[in-house]
Amino acid sequence: MDSQKHYPKQISCEFFPPNTDEGMAKLAAARKALMPISPAFFSVTYGAGGSTRERTLQAIQGIRANSDVDAAPHLTCVASTRAGIREILTTYRKLDIRRLVALRGDLPSGMSEFGEFRYANELVEFIRAETGDHFHIEVAAYPEFHPQARTTERDLLNFKRKVDAGANSAITQYFYNPESYFRFVDDCEKLGLDLPIVPGIMPITNFSQLARFSDNCGAEIPRWIRKRLESYGDDLSAIRAYGLDVVTDLCRRLLAAGAPGLHFYTMNRAGPTLAICERLALIRG
Ligand code: FAD
Repeated sequence: MDSQKHYPKQISCEFFPPNTDEGMAKLAAARKALMPISPAFFSVTYGAGGSTRERTLQAIQGIRANSDVDAAPHLTCVASTRAGIREILTTYRKLDIRRLVALRGDLPSGMSEFGEFRYANELVEFIRAETGDHFHIEVAAYPEFHPQARTTERDLLNFKRKVDAGANSAITQYFYNPESYFRFVDDCEKLGLDLPIVPGIMPITNFSQLARFSDNCGAEIPRWIRKRLESYGDDLSAIRAYGLDVVTDLCRRLLAAGAPGLHFYTMNRAGPTLAICERLALIRG
């Protein structure tokens, strides 16, 4: 973990682009409520295949127009063309967007063509070739390994490809087992990778939703957490109280070990992230 200790610590928050005016208003309120944690940036996800192209842009413009916080659109390359990605990069450059989260994405159901990019390292390479050093590029990392990885070694080497292609920093898939992150960072150090690897944090507020997400993305809910959450049944306040304890402890351990910050998957809600940050004394002002 030594390589991570010299990076300045920063907190960031992720949103998804809503598809209704009501959702946009909720997002604006969440964004405002999160200001006391002094976020380094707000990121907005992007539907693979371009399904949220306009809405991601709209949410990014909302962040730019209403706060001084950096806005970082996610960009996926699956089922895309070089011309299409070039057009999006041009739009973001015109808006003076300086940070991107570059991903492969997953083929939307019903689509079978990968398009002109196969993996995220190709997207990173393309962004660098087209725009030089204009963007700070974030990529995804998987301490518990990507669900499609053939072997753990290959997954690490594939992560290295993204760094070699020009990624500046990484955000991890969420996890509840800090050892997986510590091991991953140590493995990256052994490969000579020198970049901030920021843990992605998923607050626990709803067990069935979390279980569904985790099955899809390959993040493990450890048995001792799963059993407890199951035992609370429909008692949402008990789930939230327990989730707050567990995730705050996780964040505390990560920061104490030298993690260079935390990236919160907010699900467009400020409350759970604020509650964790409050307990960690990360609220300023
Ligand atoms: P890659 O890095 O390309 O890896 C995908 C798989 O291919 C891995 O198994 C890897 O080992 C393998 N691989 C990689 N490169 C090669 C290569 N050159 N040759 C052979 N195998 C290779 N999804 C969205 O749709 N929209 C979002 O906005 C979004 N945001 C995300 C943000 C974060 C922080 C994270 C962690 C994930 C996000 N995702 C998002 C999900 C992500 O798109 C999926 O996890 C996807 O399956 C992989 O994307 P990637 O960029 O990690 O892919």
